[in-house]
Amino acid sequence: MSDRPEHFPQLAASLASIARGFYARGWAVGTSGNVSAVVDREPLRLAMSPSGVDKGELVADQILMIDERGRVLSEPGAKPSDETALHLRIVKECSAGAVLHTHSIWNTVLSELHAAEGGLAIEGYEMLKGLHGVKTHQHREWLPIIQNSQDMLALADNVGDTLRKHTDAHGLLLRGHGLYTWGDDLAEAKRQVEILEFLLEVVGRTLLLKRSNA
Ligand SMILES: [Zn+2]
Repeated sequence: MSDRPEHFPQLAASLASIARGFYARGWAVGTSGNVSAVVDREPLRLAMSPSGVDKGELVADQILMIDERGRVLSEPGAKPSDETALHLRIVKECSAGAVLHTHSIWNTVLSELHAAEGGLAIEGYEMLKGLHGVKTHQHREWLPIIQNSQDMLALADNVGDTLRKHTDAHGLLLRGHGLYTWGDDLAEAKRQVEILEFLLEVVGRTLLLKRSNA
């Protein structure tokens, strides 16, 4: 479309490639997960994966451009992801340039296991240094866990409140659902998904080994 900024095709190609990578790693199977990147700030325009598509086969042409209210601007009749409101809220609260969402086995398991504590602490691992601004393995990362809901506007408000309380967080978990991470740009957000998914798997596997050795 003529009103798409010049860099939209590049962002769309990167988003599709990242989503296919998530699928290949088992973090976005069965059409789950979604990805977005800021195209413009004023007015806000987001490039975003559509609803219900196989992330293993996602191509750049399927990426939608949406406005600050979650309406699709690029393809009349196309359906944006159900979780568009969450992406928009995270972009606004964190001034993020990209938001990525995965449904991995380990993020799902741990979001349920630690739900009662309202979050999950990860500390002592070298890989923490892959998170923006973290300089030492002694960093303690608190991943807040939010109760899941199908009311996306209520869930977005809950996400917004949580992000204001935990301004240092690099990601958050939705209970029994998945992980949200963001970054100044797509490269940073992608790196942080990889770091957090790695750490969640380490934490989960460690717990299993400890229990089987007890
Ligand atoms: Zn989801």
